[in-house]
Order: sequence, then structure tokens, then C-alpha cells
Amino acid sequence: MTTFMTPIAQAEAQGTHYIEEARVYLMRDLDGADRWVIDPTTFGDALFSEYDYEPQNPECLCGRPDDCAATVERMKAIDLPNGEELLQMLADALGYTVSKP
Ligand SMILES: [Zn+2]
Repeated sequence: MTTFMTPIAQAEAQGTHYIEEARVYLMRDLDGADRWVIDPTTFGDALFSEYDYEPQNPECLCGRPDDCAATVERMKAIDLPNGEELLQMLADALGYTVSKP
């Protein structure tokens, strides 16, 4: 039986940092149906920064605050993905192959 570990606990177990950023917005379908669709602002531009492009680490359990802060600083320089890049990230994480007709 596999026990679920939060990403925070996984980062701690692996001796690395848990640093978070960005959000994907969903919206009610504009065709009037009561269902969720991806907000089109997700496509073309980088994902919306949840924290004004300031990656966050308050939940990190690494116990190495100086190294953690330095890692946050490095992550600030890494562009957030756009919608297409997010698609590839989701596919990779879930074991799918993405192809475009
Ligand atoms: Zn850390």
C-alpha cells in the first residue's frame, strides 16, 4: 500500500526545498454550461503569478534557511510556464504523450 506524502513532506524526505508559485485559473464555460474550462488567459502568456513573481517557501521543512532563501532567489529567475508548457508538464507527470495533429 502506498501512503500519500504531500509535496512538502516529499521535499523534506529528499533533503530539498519546497518552493511554490503560480496558479491556473478556471472559469465557468462562456457557452453558459455549468462546467469548468481553462481561462483563456492561461494560453500564450506565462501563468499568473500567485505572489507577484516571488516564489514562496514558508512551508519548506528543510531547516536550512540560508540555502532555502538562495534557492528562492534562483527560482525568481526561472520563467513561469505558459499554457502549452503546462500541458507538457501535466502530460509528463501523468505519463501521457502529447502530440499535435
Ligand atoms: Zn527549504
